[in-house]
Amino acid sequence: MRRLALASVFVAGACLVHVGAEDLATFALIAAAVGCGWAGSAWRHDWKLWRLSQRLEVISGEGQKIAIAERLAENAKGLEQALATIERRLIERHGVSGLPTREPLLEQMERDGSGVLGTFALDDFERLAGFDPDLAERVLLEIVARIVRMIPAERLIAHVDQGHFAIWYGKDIDPLVARSEIDAIAYALGGRVKIDQREILPSIATRCAALVDGITPQILLTRTLASFALDDMQDTYELSDQAIVQVQQRYAMEQDLRGAIHRNEFQLHFQPLIDAHRQWVTGAEALIRWHHPERGSVPPSLFIPIVEAAGLAEQVGMWVLNAAARQASEWGGGTADPLRIAINVSANQLHDTKFAEYLSRTLHNHSLDPACLEIELTEGVASADDADLARLLAKIRALGVKIAIDDFGTGYSSFSTLRQLTFDKIKIDREFVTDVHLRPQSQAICHSIIALGRGLDIRVLAEGVETAAEYRWLSQHGCRHFQGYYFSRPLSAADFVTFINDRASLAALLQSPSDIPQIERMTS
Ligand code: C2E
Ligand code: MG
Ligand code: MG
Repeated sequence: MRRLALASVFVAGACLVHVGAEDLATFALIAAAVGCGWAGSAWRHDWKLWRLSQRLEVISGEGQKIAIAERLAENAKGLEQALATIERRLIERHGVSGLPTREPLLEQMERDGSGVLGTFALDDFERLAGFDPDLAERVLLEIVARIVRMIPAERLIAHVDQGHFAIWYGKDIDPLVARSEIDAIAYALGGRVKIDQREILPSIATRCAALVDGITPQILLTRTLASFALDDMQDTYELSDQAIVQVQQRYAMEQDLRGAIHRNEFQLHFQPLIDAHRQWVTGAEALIRWHHPERGSVPPSLFIPIVEAAGLAEQVGMWVLNAAARQASEWGGGTADPLRIAINVSANQLHDTKFAEYLSRTLHNHSLDPACLEIELTEGVASADDADLARLLAKIRALGVKIAIDDFGTGYSSFSTLRQLTFDKIKIDREFVTDVHLRPQSQAICHSIIALGRGLDIRVLAEGVETAAEYRWLSQHGCRHFQGYYFSRPLSAADFVTFINDRASLAALLQSPSDIPQIERMTS
């Protein structure tokens, strides 16, 4: 039968090759030759088998027949066992990564009875695999190589699903240690993957779950994997219609964003940056605003992720850079102490190695002193262990443009990685500033960031200062630079000028911290 199938495939192949050929006679000849070849081989094969069975009968005789049958049966059993071993090996090892699959993982969990399970999901892997399976496989292999490099040999790592990996920590581990190991691995896995000319920035989600009495390893693993999907799809299992509407809304917003620059719908607002020692506004952070004719004012937290995902980061980033430089050069005219304007730059913009050239050209076009421009990078971007990025940042600093690390404290940067980069400012994230005077943990973090700033001789700014009490605590503990609603919300260009000219109001806000009465929080 297999020969028949093979011959059919061959003949069908010949037909395909010859579709449209003019020489039908040649084609018929080939088809006939193939057919005869197959018939001949099939006949020879069957004939040989028949002859063999006859010879066995003759040679062995009646007495030998059983011994031969037994030996054949023994061999068949051996063969079956060998096949089963191969099959098991195939089940136990993932075909692409070569890592153990979920079966040995579940068996080990079963044997241990309790313990900690860490899982990683490569977000968007299915989508990447859908449009470029080869690239997806290479990204996956790089991720696997990173996991293997980072994980101690005694841990069992399994490739449990297309873009999902699990680590079994067993029962003799402190869950906090497991959690911090998982965080560190996720951070390393999130580093840029370079394949040929392409760069992929993997996004990694993690889970850490405990196997306890009353739950089977199978259920724990299934639930953990399902929780990644629920996160992505926001309860799609139950709200599939709602999820579809969300996808449609996101798509519509993406379309609107594509035309927003041409329709002049973006604007910059400026939030004052305060130097408390000099009682002076040193500059502003430029924050993008999108006014859509029907949607109204859309917050950046909603549309910036879509800008990034839709590949518009460069285009929008260039608009921000130009608008900010234009404004800074307008304000800069003639003042002895020019204002510095800070812009937010995303990781995607830094993937373009020409970014330093764009900066230089923009500064030139607006006749702007490079020291009047600062770029803000989030901590994750700034601490990525990447030689190209380090070179790019060095180029930017060589231009005279300043670099600030935004949202500091929220990422996983090790101070040693940060020390390899030279930057000019650290912005303590609002998370640690909110109620800092009441929260010992935030106080510890602020203390160490302020000390780091002193050690590296760089400015430290506290973002999101909303109350006098927060300002007072930070000021008393060595922080000198501030930004937040307590001083001012982001303002239009005209209102910003009014703010800097009203020095008396700023002085009142900055009066000796101990004299300041408690002021109510300005947001909920
Ligand atoms: P960010 O760079 O950390 O900017 C600070 C955010 O905190 C701003 O929100 C600002 O309005 C807000 N903020 C400042 N002081 C306070 C305060 O006292 N209390 C509270 N609750 N919030 C305060 P915004 O303008 O909504 O921007 C959010 C984020 O969007 C920014 O965070 C930044 O990551 C991103 N973003 C804004 N503009 C741009 C841009 O031009 N390009 C890029 N790539 N991202 C931008
Ligand atoms: Mg910022
Ligand atoms: Mg920030």
